[in-house]
Amino acid sequence: MDTVVGMSDNYVIPEPEPKEIDEKTSMELRHLAANAVLLGKPSGAEKCENCRYYLEPTADLSYCWHPKLRILVGSSWWCQWWDAIPTSANE
Ligand code: SF4
Repeated sequence: MDTVVGMSDNYVIPEPEPKEIDEKTSMELRHLAANAVLLGKPSGAEKCENCRYYLEPTADLSYCWHPKLRILVGSSWWCQWWDAIPTSANE
């Protein structure tokens, strides 16, 4: 005899909503961004894509390896720890 387990016709898929971990992570990242004075826009000519800590300078989104950040950032973002990419002459 076959057994069929089905869902009720009245079942409604719940709307997605942030969980406690999302709120915790959001707060941690907000503090991190505030400490870095991280902005989602450049500061003059200074922006992540021309900063030494931006791992993939040709990517729109990349990893920032600054020891106080270590997060994904956008190529046109900026923070107070921006530092020019060293040239071979001053490395
Ligand atoms: S140190 Fe600041 S400016 Fe440099 S890549 Fe990281 S977030 Fe961008």
